[in-house]
Amino acid sequence: MKVADILNNGRVNVSCELFPPKAWDKLSGAKQVVREIAALKPSFMSVTYGAGGGTSEYTVDLSREVEGCGVTALAHLTCLSTSEEKLLSIIESLKENKIENILALRGDKGELSVPGAFAHASDLISLIQKHGDFCIGGACYPECHPESPSLAADLDGLKIKAESGCEFFTTQMFFDNNVFYKFMYRLLASGISVPVVAGIMPVTNSAQLDRIISLSGSGIPLRFRAIADKFASDPAAMKQAGIAYATDQIIDLIASGVNNIHIYTMNKPDVAESIMTNLSDIIGK
Ligand code: FAD
Repeated sequence: MKVADILNNGRVNVSCELFPPKAWDKLSGAKQVVREIAALKPSFMSVTYGAGGGTSEYTVDLSREVEGCGVTALAHLTCLSTSEEKLLSIIESLKENKIENILALRGDKGELSVPGAFAHASDLISLIQKHGDFCIGGACYPECHPESPSLAADLDGLKIKAESGCEFFTTQMFFDNNVFYKFMYRLLASGISVPVVAGIMPVTNSAQLDRIISLSGSGIPLRFRAIADKFASDPAAMKQAGIAYATDQIIDLIASGVNNIHIYTMNKPDVAESIMTNLSDIIGK
């Protein structure tokens, strides 16, 4: 099924994310994670590409596993460190495996860029469009992409992506819902009307926090900083508090009419299960 159709179904949709392993001998473990998260019946599951410490090689494998569990897969693909030839072979392989959805991304500048690589996700979107009937999504940044000179310039980049054929956006993680609401007003004002999936990261250990801030540039509200400081030395309490905070954010989003939510589950089925259980009556699953 196409992700755009899921996002427009008028119901509350909750998706989950996982990343591929670094080495082939960990692939069966990763597939087990897929099965455990799929059993929670998320609306779809995304599989990152070369991010989160995993390798790009297994994105197609894991996406196929997701579909095999009866859940729609969204395969990520990045263009900065991948040659056009390799991009085309991955697109072909996704097609062969009947994976209909791609999240088209540039990749981070720190990655080794290949000569002649596409400069922007919009270039990748155009390439994908030419080579298959995919539903294509892209990334957006409620707190502005770190390289953008301004929010206005960032919105121009999103407009180019939407005009290139991007059918939905998934946000970078945010910890303050007001930041997301303000961003949505700006999007609307600039005439961008594709669905936006709100990305929520359950932070379950305090060591994650500084890494998240440096990688994503996301701001941490004082309320959450206090939680992380209080429970830093108690892993079980930090995990419980992180899940509660993420659940609270999601409930506030749903109450405010946001239907599409993505959980950065980071290969943790127990975390995904706790959040889904907390939401069971709210999302009717
Ligand atoms: P772009 O859309 O190319 O934007 C990059 C910068 O260029 C922005 O500042 C933007 O404003 C500007 N810009 C955009 N288009 C244009 C244009 N046509 N002309 C001029 N300027 C433009 N990384 C991975 O390696 N693997 C993953 O699986 C992965 N998944 C992600 C999922 C989500 C939901 C998010 C939010 C990020 C993900 N990332 C992943 C990280 C992502 O690759 C980085 O954030 C990267 O720095 C930007 O990617 P992008 O696709 O937004 O790039």
